[in-house]
Amino acid sequence: MTAAPPLLEVEGLTKTYGQGRAGKVFALADVDFSLNKGETLGVVGESGSGKTTLGRTLLRLTEPSAGRVRVDGEDIAALSLSALKPLRRRLQIIFQDPFGALNPRHTVGKVIGEPLAVHGVGSKAERAAKVRDLLDAVGLEPDAVDRYPHEFSGGQRQRIAIARAIALEPDLVVADEPVSALDVSIQSQILNLIADLRRERGIAFLFISHDLSVVRHVSDRVAVMYFGRIVEQAETDALFASPAHPYTVALLSAVPHVAGDAIPAIERVAVTGELPDPSNPPPGCPFAARCPKAMDVCRQDRPPLVRRNVSERETRDVACHLFEGAG
Ligand code: SF4
Repeated sequence: MTAAPPLLEVEGLTKTYGQGRAGKVFALADVDFSLNKGETLGVVGESGSGKTTLGRTLLRLTEPSAGRVRVDGEDIAALSLSALKPLRRRLQIIFQDPFGALNPRHTVGKVIGEPLAVHGVGSKAERAAKVRDLLDAVGLEPDAVDRYPHEFSGGQRQRIAIARAIALEPDLVVADEPVSALDVSIQSQILNLIADLRRERGIAFLFISHDLSVVRHVSDRVAVMYFGRIVEQAETDALFASPAHPYTVALLSAVPHVAGDAIPAIERVAVTGELPDPSNPPPGCPFAARCPKAMDVCRQDRPPLVRRNVSERETRDVACHLFEGAG
């Protein structure tokens, strides 16, 4: 039996802005990955690594400069905006700040029902019934329809934003730091809701977060971004048990170890310095100036993201000269 094709295939996705002193400013460069139906890919990296640009560009909320974004084989990066509209139903986004994403002058019923109305789904009565079902699905009382977003707590507002995002029964939701603005006690409730929706409705998630503990909790696979590029990608357990790229090692070493965790603590690796200037990128590995393992070659040649042997038993996509010659 042949495997089902991926829901989403991203190839060479690039976003540049203007012209810097040394040419274009790359916010996103040559990003490749795929996502299966119902799968969750976590995207991690520090601020400025390109995570949010990736989420917005693949949905074409920001226009890509180059590359392909195939949804069930159809390249949405090449579609006109009118041809894109029916596909938008299948691709939704949840933002970090639910309040900013919800119109404060609209009732919750209108906020959640709006995508249904825009896409002409059902009659008015059917849409009203669907909104009540959606409120129930995200753990809110149906009588919330007549209230306004400011009447709800931060966690409840994120539930409203999630109800709106799933109203059109999407195949993929980009969740951009969906719990970062919430209290820790509320974060796990929202993460559990996302996990339930994924299980019950088969929705795939691209889960963007700077918080590695959160990403580990929800993701099947993790892509680590640095300076607009994916530098390592692996199954979640494998990545957390044995990070390969020195940047991933540094990120994971900063996560506090919890007693009883099956994954051993990683010795703390201090990484100093900043991301390079995107208007004047270095010729070699963009992490070279901060990397404790940098070699001469690292300052000359940028390592591509390719499948390498990272141990005797495991291969993984990693962009680092340390693994060259290892398969
Ligand atoms: Fe460090 Fe070199 Fe690997 Fe870049 S390529 S992460 S500088 S070892």
